[in-house]
Amino acid sequence: MPSFPPADRLSGLGTTIFAEMSALALRTRAINLGQGFPDTDGPPEIIEAAVRALREGRNQYAPGPGVPELRQAVSDHQQRFYGVTADPDSEVLVTTGATEAIAAALLALIDPGDEVVALEPYYDSYAAGIAMAGGVRVPVTMRAPDFRLDVAMLRSAVSPRTKALLVNSPHNPTGTVLGDSELQAVVDVACEHDLLVITDEVYEHLTFDGVRHRPLATYDGMRDRTLTISSAGKTFSFTGWKVGWAVGPAQLVRAVTTAKQFLTFTSGAPLQPAVAQALGLGDDYFTEIRTTLQAKRDRLCAGLRDIGFDVFTPQGTYFVTTDITPLGYDDGVAFCRDLPERCGVVAIPHQVFYDDPRAGKSLVRWAFCKRDDVLDEAVKRLSLLSS
Ligand code: PMP
Ligand code: GLN
Repeated sequence: MPSFPPADRLSGLGTTIFAEMSALALRTRAINLGQGFPDTDGPPEIIEAAVRALREGRNQYAPGPGVPELRQAVSDHQQRFYGVTADPDSEVLVTTGATEAIAAALLALIDPGDEVVALEPYYDSYAAGIAMAGGVRVPVTMRAPDFRLDVAMLRSAVSPRTKALLVNSPHNPTGTVLGDSELQAVVDVACEHDLLVITDEVYEHLTFDGVRHRPLATYDGMRDRTLTISSAGKTFSFTGWKVGWAVGPAQLVRAVTTAKQFLTFTSGAPLQPAVAQALGLGDDYFTEIRTTLQAKRDRLCAGLRDIGFDVFTPQGTYFVTTDITPLGYDDGVAFCRDLPERCGVVAIPHQVFYDDPRAGKSLVRWAFCKRDDVLDEAVKRLSLLSS
């Protein structure tokens, strides 16, 4: 039997924790508070727009950079919410989700041996994308209970080999939304060392308690060095559509487009006009998604706190992080593997998002983007842990 092990570049990547935990949820019929996806669809009129596009024959290859109305809508969105101008023809690229934008950006802009400084805990595709590009990941760890940016650690992470800073705010898995002084520190470091900045802002509209997301590209000195990545999945509750985009100066977008051409060539055509329509929804939509999610956050946080978890209330995203130590556990991976059998609930251990697994060992992430009755049932089941 011939053996064909994966290339060294892929060593240690295995199966993503999200796939593993969602499969476990299906197998055990557990409530899935692991992988971040809502259990309610986004706006019906946007679904109708997608159906219309399918029926009206938008079924052949879209142009490589994306359909013109979506590129225009992304450009309009950046202007409307942030006052950022982006030329829809040269400064916007439509991708197959933010995931493709991240991978294409890293493949396009990172050479083997280049260092990429990334916030830790990090979203898993960053580690994979950096590894596939042959780059070296250098973590800047955000620690409980506050999960704020450690500016001294950021500064000391930069070396002569650093090519890029890879930032994520609102941040998965901690729910931190970087504030002005933290963002300014990123800006200062990027400008002082002339670094490229790749910023993943997929949760840009999902912030709570009046906290607002501010894109790094809006800071002085940043427009020409920043590639901003986002997607329709979270903002419009269509995570399965996988329509994302990258926005930035033409030189960066051109490089990412070169890589994208040979990953997917072009992204699914009929969903793009629908996402264009979604980006133009009224302010009410964007306010409502925020307030609805904030109430869900509060519901799950209160339930978890009552059970006895140490709860770190997030400022944004779909997720809340807890420490399991007060309940007598210390290993999040073992806890999450046993949880479906024990209580019929699935969650995600933080440990997999760190280079040093001890760093997040007792932390567990829970998704609250679920129906209220599902959250209540999950809390009811989890209360077995403290009885
Ligand atoms: N970045 C972060 C921080 C995420 O949580 C996710 C998960 N959806 C993605 C990127 C990927 O987004 P998409 O589904 O649009 O590829
Ligand atoms: N972003 C989602 C999460 O963090 C998962 C997306 C995926 O499965 N890759 O749960």
